[in-house]
Amino acid sequence: MATPSILVTGGAGFIGSHTVVALAEAGYRPVVYDNFSNSQQSILEGLRQILGYEVPCYVADCTHRGALLEAMEREQVQGVIHFAAFKAVGESVQEPLRYYRNNLDALLTLVEVMLELGVHDLIFSSSCTVYGEPEQLPVTEHSPILPAISPYGNTKQIGEEILRDVVRAGKPLRIISLRYFNPIGAHPSALIGELPIGVPNNLVPYITQTAAGLRPELVVFGDDYPTPDGTCIRDYIHVMDLAEAHVAALRSLERLGALASHYDVFNIGTGEGASVLDVVRAFEEASGNALPYRIGPRRPGDVAAVYADATKARDQLGWTARRTLREALADAWRWEQRLQTLAPPNTESH
Ligand code: UDP
Repeated sequence: MATPSILVTGGAGFIGSHTVVALAEAGYRPVVYDNFSNSQQSILEGLRQILGYEVPCYVADCTHRGALLEAMEREQVQGVIHFAAFKAVGESVQEPLRYYRNNLDALLTLVEVMLELGVHDLIFSSSCTVYGEPEQLPVTEHSPILPAISPYGNTKQIGEEILRDVVRAGKPLRIISLRYFNPIGAHPSALIGELPIGVPNNLVPYITQTAAGLRPELVVFGDDYPTPDGTCIRDYIHVMDLAEAHVAALRSLERLGALASHYDVFNIGTGEGASVLDVVRAFEEASGNALPYRIGPRRPGDVAAVYADATKARDQLGWTARRTLREALADAWRWEQRLQTLAPPNTESH
């Protein structure tokens, strides 16, 4: 049988590019489909160096039905992993229409094209933000879904609902939504990694940029939360573990055999919570550098603690996170150091 081709929308992005590597390692033929609105061509070069060959890449938008149809037909795609979306929470609050238009139009167009071509298998990027501030920890897939705080989060909730409804209507699609916790780290080769635009919002890129001297200090957003050290708790997962979860999900769909309609959802996290100060300490150990930081005020919208119960993924997908927090931070640091050798430090645009 020919190697199955898998379309990876947003395949040049952070999680997408690492999933391209995991797919190739698992014997699939990944095809990147990306409009490069929030990603860079240099990632394709990193992929080429890791894999030893050039990954096919279509530079196009998921809302462009004709381009999507052509790419999927030409590549004889057998499954799709859909990452392509706008993802900046704050920006989504400022520009809700742009977020709803882009993220939902892309998903709807993709599903329509899949149905038209008879492509059945889809993995959708969702987020633990659907749980809001959970009453019980760890959160299972049965934990209540709370109204989204941001338009970005709402596009993930609505995306899940659209997919569930399409399957409920008996359409021949087999879909898994993966609810990601906090992806961090980079490929251990440091040839691909996260490329934040402007000042990073996320903790780990902020830490690595601080250690690289691009930022004077980390501001810890609040130490008066009801947690052991007062700082927020999250479930930080190595991006390669997360990437491998997509392969496990795809394989589980293939095991369904001839079953036409299927929808399911899985938490993808480590099952371990780490506080902001835990991350700072683990980073200091991993990098051998002291990290300058100070405690600042809370960031609006942050929940005190959220971490996954990932037993469903373990039991049904045979997947579990294998890499440690320290390993993830060491890989993130290696990537940041490599970035500094490529481009002169630019604190303005970083
Ligand atoms: N955080 C922080 N300082 C920063 C960025 C993040 O203290 O400069 C904290 C934030 O309050 C949260 C955790 O780090 O508790 C993870 O934040 P991030 O934005 O990476 O992910 P989120 O969980 O908000 O999606």
